[in-house]
Amino acid sequence: MSIKLAGRCLIVLALGFPGLGAEPGPKPTRFEFAEPHMGSEFKLVLYTENEATARRASRAAFDRIAALDKILSDYIPDSELMQLCDRAGGPPVAVSPDLFDVLSRSRSIYERSEGAFDVTVAPVVRLWRRARREHKLPDPERLAQAKALVGSDRLRLDSNAKTVQLLKKGMRLDVGGIGKGYAAQAAVDVLKREGVSRALVAGSGDIAVGDPPPGRKGWTIGVAPLDASSPPQRYFSLANGAVSTSGDAEKYVEIDGKRYSHIVDPRTGVGVIDRCSVTVVAPDGGTADSLDTAVYVLGPDRGLPLIEATPGAAALIVRRTAQGEQTFESKRWKDLTPVPPPSTGTSISTAP
Ligand code: ADP
Ligand code: MG
Repeated sequence: MSIKLAGRCLIVLALGFPGLGAEPGPKPTRFEFAEPHMGSEFKLVLYTENEATARRASRAAFDRIAALDKILSDYIPDSELMQLCDRAGGPPVAVSPDLFDVLSRSRSIYERSEGAFDVTVAPVVRLWRRARREHKLPDPERLAQAKALVGSDRLRLDSNAKTVQLLKKGMRLDVGGIGKGYAAQAAVDVLKREGVSRALVAGSGDIAVGDPPPGRKGWTIGVAPLDASSPPQRYFSLANGAVSTSGDAEKYVEIDGKRYSHIVDPRTGVGVIDRCSVTVVAPDGGTADSLDTAVYVLGPDRGLPLIEATPGAAALIVRRTAQGEQTFESKRWKDLTPVPPPSTGTSISTAP
C-alpha cells in the first residue's frame, strides 16, 4: 500500500508491520491517519495497542496542528499572525506562547544565518508568488519598496512581557519556512502526552518522529533526489528527531531561462536561482524546517558552518551544475544510520 501526500522532497517509508515487535505484552498495531492542514496533507503513523487510544491521540494531534494554523497562517486573514502584522508600526502587542515561540526561534535563526532566514521577508515573497502566477518578474520599483520593509532587526521581542513589536508600518511576517516543521513536532509531542510515543508526523516534506516502530531502531526516511519524480537514492533511519527538505524541485518560476525558487534571498529580494535541494536533520521540527530554508539561501559554503554550529543537526545538499550533480554533506550526516532501499511493503510516501 502506498499513500501519496501532496508534497515534494522526502519519502518516508515506515516499514514496521503490525505486531513485528518482539516485546512482551499486547502487540502494537499500526494506525495511519491523514487530514489537510496548513495547505498540505498531514499524515500520522502510530503504533499502539488499541484503536480507541489511536483515535483519541490522533484527534488531539490534528487539533493541535489546526490550532497552530489559526495562529500562524498567512491565508487566514484573522490569524493571530495577520492581526499582529496589521499592527505594524504601533506599540508592542501581547501574543500567545506559541506565536512568541515561533517568532523567537525565527529571530534566532535570522541572527545565526546572517539574515538568510527572515520571516519579515513576506512583502517580497508576496511579489514572487504573483510572479509565479503571472510568469513575469516583479516590477523593480515595487520590489524595492517591499524590500525596504524586510529585516528582522526591526522585529522586537520582549521575552519577559511576551510581546512582539514590528517597528515599521507595512512590515509583514511569513512563517511558511518554519511553521509546518514546528507543527509536525508539536503533533509528535501531543501524541507522546497522549501515551503514544511510537509515532511519525509528516506535513508534506516536513517530518517529525518519536520512538521507532516496534522491533526497529528507527523510521526509514528516503531522501528524494533533485528530480522530484525519481525515487530516492538514499535512505536512513531516524528516531526522536526531525527532517525537512527545501529546494526548487516544485515551487519555482522560470523566466527568460532562469529558474527562481519560491524561497527568496531577503538580502537581495530575489528568488534563489540555485538548482539545489537541502535536507536537514535536527533534534526538532522547527529547527529542521527553518535551517533547510536558511541553508538553501546560504549555499553550501556558508550554510554548512551553520549546520555544524547547531547541536544535533546534519545536512545533505545536492546541487545541479553544468557538470552534473554535486553533493555536500555536513560532518554529522555520516552519523546517520544508512539503510538499504526498502522492498515493497507498507509505505507512506510524500513523493509528488
Ligand atoms: P516549503 O514551504 O516548500 O516546505 P520551506 O520550508 O523552505 O519550503 O519554506 C518556504 C517558505 O518560506 C516560502 O513559501 C515562504 O513562505 C517562506 N520564505 C521564503 N523565503 C524565505 C526566507 N529567506 N526566510 C524565511 N522564510 C522564507
Ligand atoms: Mg523550511
